[in-house]
Amino acid sequence: MPDYTYLIIGGGMTADAATAGIRDADPAGSIGLIGAEPHPPYNRPPLSKALWKGESEDTIWRTGAKTAAQLHLGRRVVSVDATGRRVTDDRGAVYGYRKLLLATGGSPRRLPLETEQIVYYRTLDDYRRLRPLATEPLRFAVIGGGFIGSEVAAALRLQGRDVVMLIPEAGVGARVFPADLSRFLVEYYGEKGVTMRVGEGMAGLERRAGKCVVRTTTGQELTAEVVVAGLGIQPSVELAEQAGLRVGNGIEVDEFCRSSHPDIYAAGDVASFHNPALDARIRVEHEDNANTMGKIAGQNMAGQSVRYTHLPFFYSDLFELGYEAVGDVDSRLETVADWKTPFREGVVYYLKDRRVRGVLLWNTWGQVDHARALIAEPGPFTSQALKGRLPA
Ligand SMILES: Cc1cc2nc3c(=O)[nH]c(=O)nc-3n(C[C@H](O)[C@H](O)[C@H](O)COP(=O)(O)OP(=O)(O)OC[C@H]3O[C@@H](n4cnc5c(N)ncnc54)[C@H](O)[C@@H]3O)c2cc1C
Repeated sequence: MPDYTYLIIGGGMTADAATAGIRDADPAGSIGLIGAEPHPPYNRPPLSKALWKGESEDTIWRTGAKTAAQLHLGRRVVSVDATGRRVTDDRGAVYGYRKLLLATGGSPRRLPLETEQIVYYRTLDDYRRLRPLATEPLRFAVIGGGFIGSEVAAALRLQGRDVVMLIPEAGVGARVFPADLSRFLVEYYGEKGVTMRVGEGMAGLERRAGKCVVRTTTGQELTAEVVVAGLGIQPSVELAEQAGLRVGNGIEVDEFCRSSHPDIYAAGDVASFHNPALDARIRVEHEDNANTMGKIAGQNMAGQSVRYTHLPFFYSDLFELGYEAVGDVDSRLETVADWKTPFREGVVYYLKDRRVRGVLLWNTWGQVDHARALIAEPGPFTSQALKGRLPA
């Protein structure tokens, strides 16, 4: 039985960052990594952006885990014995550990139909499936107007494909962007040639004559050869639950990324942590969090006591528009928009109880740290006082 000082479950960006964190604190302790995908860790963001704009797959690979850890790929851990400090994979192999990291991320919510024609866009293999289809004159139905749906729709359209977006809300990114910006994006996507069907959700899905037919909440149908499902993810907490760890919206960890069991840590998309600036427990599904939290979890597994107090940012590209965002960017909060050019360049502040809880930097760059500082300020803020605060 392989017996590691440090064992990591998950082969994503968090897992990779954790190996670097462990090596910062312990140059020699053995590290094992078990990942369900057949590939070593790679960066996911290029899968819906750079790779569609001509960048090569060679650019996505990460090197941390490859050099520091023994990789066990194409294997899924099916049980964790927290008392015996052992895990078992789906081929029956058993691995021992002193410290364990759960970096299991999340898995896409699924549609109620099993067919090869549905792509859940999460992995390199999903990209490799969709990419050749995007060279054929097919119709693509993208379900959902969130992060993945809006990026993949843009990527497919950039290849000249016939793309229809089906969005139950009133606009693109409606859970994040203020209503007017979200509606503007519907027009913008329309101008780019994407057929936009907003305020229309999916009521049913079936296969007919070799195609997927989506029945919508307005009683219409949408027929397409390929359906891309962008319905968000659910944190992969099954192992944590089975091991008896505290789980809420994700695996609950303390400021040192430690779960309710002292030998087991969790980080990245799967972990729920308290953020001091927001004074709230949050779970973040973004790259900066995966990299920063993964690294700190690794350092702490190897004996350091580094607090995870970072407020992560995230970013996205929508055709020629791009943004970075920090904190709680929830469109249900009060928003104050300060546009330099309406919907093209500016800053949106998200307020709760007259404090800034989040900042959206729309085509406004180099301001993430200033936005973090603003979120840490106690306020109170008025909308008038916020105008012109950023760019600083
Ligand atoms: C297409 C795409 C584009 C993105 N673009 C951006 C962006 O522009 N900006 C941004 O900030 N964020 C972006 N993100 C989000 C970002 O990539 C994620 O936050 C990050 O990948 C999370 O890393 P993770 O390692 O925590 O989880 P994951 O990436 O989900 O990795 C978890 C890994 O663990 C494996 N696993 C799960 N359970 C087991 C098990 N039982 N045994 C073994 N292995 C297991 C999974 O197979 C997976 O490989 C994007 C995500 C996607 C999918």
